[in-house]
Amino acid sequence: MTTPAPTDGRVALLHVDDDDLAACVACGLCLPHCPTYRVTGLEAASPRGRITAMRAVQWDGAALDATFAQYMEECVQCRGCEAACPSSVPFGRLMEGARATLQEQPPVKRSPLRGVAEWFGFRVLLPRHWLLLAFTWLLLVAQRLRIVPKGVALPRLSARSLVRPLRPAPAAGEVDAYLFTGCVMDAWQRDVHRAALEVMEAGGAAVGLAGRGGDCCGALHVHAGRIDEARRLATRVVASMPGDAPVVVDSAGCGAAMKDYGHLIDTPEARAFAARVRDFAEWARERHLPLELTGRRVVVQDPCHLRHVQRAASFTHEVLARAYDVTGTDDDGLCCGAGGVYAVVQPELAGAIRARKVEALQRAAGDTAPLVASANPGCLMHLRGAGVDVRHPAELLAAALKKERPPL
Ligand code: SF4
Ligand code: SF4
Repeated sequence: MTTPAPTDGRVALLHVDDDDLAACVACGLCLPHCPTYRVTGLEAASPRGRITAMRAVQWDGAALDATFAQYMEECVQCRGCEAACPSSVPFGRLMEGARATLQEQPPVKRSPLRGVAEWFGFRVLLPRHWLLLAFTWLLLVAQRLRIVPKGVALPRLSARSLVRPLRPAPAAGEVDAYLFTGCVMDAWQRDVHRAALEVMEAGGAAVGLAGRGGDCCGALHVHAGRIDEARRLATRVVASMPGDAPVVVDSAGCGAAMKDYGHLIDTPEARAFAARVRDFAEWARERHLPLELTGRRVVVQDPCHLRHVQRAASFTHEVLARAYDVTGTDDDGLCCGAGGVYAVVQPELAGAIRARKVEALQRAAGDTAPLVASANPGCLMHLRGAGVDVRHPAELLAAALKKERPPL
């Protein structure tokens, strides 16, 4: 059922489906899986509380006010609640709809600084990769001059990496698989893509990169409720990787968004494209990789968008176990608090959530400092910000490739 047009003088209802909203039976089984509920203990910071707030606006005429906006904006959008819900409430869709409504009708005027930052980031920078790379050079200079404001969780940028574009080995014929490199990850963590490429080529694949338009998958835009902008970016991404070859994504958040293109764009082309998307480990597990045992222990952190959304987290454990002594955490995959730009806009909650995750990682590692694997660039940066040694699974696999390999 689609949301009806408002008839009672309100400006608009939420962009959510009433049946989705009605599916919650308020059982509360999702609460222990919600990171914001775990750190605050507040019903309003729980999935059930957020659904209650949405119902109040949608069904009972409550105001779309600052309190409602706060309840929605404090959600990390980790979707741990969705995975735990016995009634299959599509919480991610509900939250995206609520955010889209807030984006259209902000109940409180945003500060001019935040408005400019959001416009510049979402509308100017992310859709233009050349500009993002140029901006990254400026950031790199600022970082070296130590004038980046404290609290901006920037990874240490690498000039060496920025000047070396990715160069897949020339494909003799058809591309066996694409590696999607995206926006921020390519600018700030290109060495991860380099490692993924090395592993894919060691697995015998002729790898292609996205052509024109493959700048940004739109995941951050969806999170922020900027759905029309996300659709435009996604449409360009679909066109940038033609053919039938799998589209391998080494960012859990991007992969989750791209697997959902059928829902976002809703065309046969988008659905066919979404069916080709594979997480990096999901693709790698089906290949023979020339790895050697390292004897090192790795604690795997399951990014929410891999575990709860793609439901593909086990593949990272499986592939890494070919070379490492792999262990997981005992916290049922509770979020680390990174959540796209969440760590920037909700630093206190993100920090409190992260502290619990760091404790879980340490418990898993035992007496030594953990070496952690994370398949999501946002989680990786967020956890590194707490001093944790985090690598992408592709980097760990590349480090374990046999040095002497027979020619392919
Ligand atoms: S979202 Fe699902 S698990 Fe949570 S209270 Fe509603 S029905 Fe229960
Ligand atoms: S998406 Fe995550 S943070 Fe948001 S309500 Fe669900 S469990 Fe809580």
